[in-house]
Amino acid sequence: YLKNHMKKICFIVAMAAEAKPLIQHFGLMHQGGRFGQAPSQVYQGNYKNIEITLVTNGKDADTGFDYIGCEAATLSTHLAIAYYHPDIIINAGTAGGFASKGAKIGDVYLSHKYIVFHDRRVDIPGWNRMGQGYFPCIDSDEIARLGGFKQGICTTGSSLDMTEDDAEQMRQTGGEVKDMEAAAVAWVAQLYKTPILCVKAITDLVGADRPTAQQFDDNLSMATQKLKDACFKIVDEHLLRKKK
Ligand code: SAH
Repeated sequence: YLKNHMKKICFIVAMAAEAKPLIQHFGLMHQGGRFGQAPSQVYQGNYKNIEITLVTNGKDADTGFDYIGCEAATLSTHLAIAYYHPDIIINAGTAGGFASKGAKIGDVYLSHKYIVFHDRRVDIPGWNRMGQGYFPCIDSDEIARLGGFKQGICTTGSSLDMTEDDAEQMRQTGGEVKDMEAAAVAWVAQLYKTPILCVKAITDLVGADRPTAQQFDDNLSMATQKLKDACFKIVDEHLLRKKK
């Protein structure tokens, strides 16, 4: 699944707060206005002879908030692939986990088996499957084993909360790492036959007593440090080692 001569790695990250530790650690420089009117922002640098590109979704001019969610993630991923032709896409971000599946705040999960949506309701055979997605991701077994990461089926929806219907779809698909971008990024990656790995740090436990938004705010900074450490380890110890 991985090319032997990996030269270009592209991170797709929704929020600036999630991206900041990665940008600093890899020493990436902001490439202002690279995508014209599109909000997506590009950061680039060279790390051990690998071209590292990181694309964030950028900000909504209207609210001043970072774009989260599938539409912006689709745009960022399309632009990133069309402009930079990466050898691999790493969708790095935060996610909700499930205590019932053993998740703890601060855990880092790698995508596993396939990536799905949990909030598409089209009860017609065929379209139903298309709605859930089942997009491929790279085999993360070895990276997880060597790096000590958990693995989980990433599942994406357009809401921070979870309805009973979302929960039912997750039971069907086995979804266990809940975010708002992974499946959108994976859909574009699949269109362009670009390998994808999701790396997700758990900021909140779904269904815990404390509201998700509060858990998210409390744990964001800790989780983004763990995310950075994990991404660095994956690039340094795994993706670069494959070159030999
Ligand atoms: N309240 C936050 C907004 C976070 S929205 C703020 O004001 O900064 C959630 C973002 O984190 C999305 O990009 C999503 O991918 C991820 N995320 C974290 N926990 C999530 C959960 N439980 N469900 C869905 N997305 C989650």
